[in-house]
Amino acid sequence: STPGGSKVREEKILVTVRVRPLNRKEQALYDLIAWDCIDEQTIVFKNPNHERPIVSYTFDKVFGQACSSQNVYEEGAKMVALSALTGINATIFAYGQTSSGKTFTMRGITENAIKDIYEHIKSSPERDFVLKVSALEIYNETVVDLLNRESGSLRLLDDPEKGTIVEKLVEEVVKDSQHLRHLIGICEAQRQVGETALNDKSSRSHQIIRLTIESCLREHLGQVKSFIASLNLVDLAGSERASQTNADGTRLKEGSHINRSLLTLTTVIRKLSGGKRNGHIPYRDSKLTRILQPSLGGNARTAIICTMSPALSHVEQTRNTLSFATSAK
Ligand code: ADP
Ligand code: MG
Repeated sequence: STPGGSKVREEKILVTVRVRPLNRKEQALYDLIAWDCIDEQTIVFKNPNHERPIVSYTFDKVFGQACSSQNVYEEGAKMVALSALTGINATIFAYGQTSSGKTFTMRGITENAIKDIYEHIKSSPERDFVLKVSALEIYNETVVDLLNRESGSLRLLDDPEKGTIVEKLVEEVVKDSQHLRHLIGICEAQRQVGETALNDKSSRSHQIIRLTIESCLREHLGQVKSFIASLNLVDLAGSERASQTNADGTRLKEGSHINRSLLTLTTVIRKLSGGKRNGHIPYRDSKLTRILQPSLGGNARTAIICTMSPALSHVEQTRNTLSFATSAK
């Protein structure tokens, strides 16, 4: 059986959508806004060439272009992020096509989560906390340590107790919030490495920042009243890589566009939310899902923020994104 897969899952996946403003390029091309957030949970495709809206989608929350990053954090990620403080593994993803705002959104979530976590720690003097951070990038199914790029390509190993572990991955003990921001800054800089040499690398790679939070009650030091869990902050490859078929339904050539980790992740998410928890969930089919397995199945908490451009020119990709978001609910 799969570690964590046998427990009953309590919560469904929190699925939200964030629309970014039209960018300069879209404005310069007189692109049209094709989507309307008609209430807090509903977004409609308002085909500018027709009068009536033709498709509507409902999620836990939709964030219009005026929503702040803090707002997105509060309503789209906070509950999931804070669960890591009480021993429940958590994963927060940004999913969407390239340039839809994934990195922008994950930065905002990371910043707000750090603030929130340290406020919680400050207001819990009865507990002792230890935070550790690790960070990795998956590119073409190769895992690289963003805190120690020199270690090259890292192997995944199966540990009988811990499940899948990333061999030699550096885990830094975090001193305070400033130190954590500094370490995340290093990861960001490392992620840029090779960006110019490898055209559109950021659209093909996944980044995971993993915070491990351990705490125990002071008077129970070393005893059972302790928690340990990790919070995984995941900036995914562009969702245009999630499809095995072209727009016309023909199969893409292997390797050219398909991103195995992204494709497997979407399958895993669909199965987890589709009530087939007892069936086979193909965590082992990709590096990303193997690494995230303990933070996806079981009683882990998951939030997915789907990012999208409002532009008419992107409607096809956006509809793919929203259809994935719908299947994750
Ligand atoms: P992705 O990571 O999905 O490829 P980015 O996060 O890099 O996309 O966003 C593309 C561009 O759009 C960036 O310049 C970013 O600053 C801007 N952007 C994205 N989302 C927003 C937003 N909600 N508000 C303002 N600008 C945004
Ligand atoms: Mg990005």
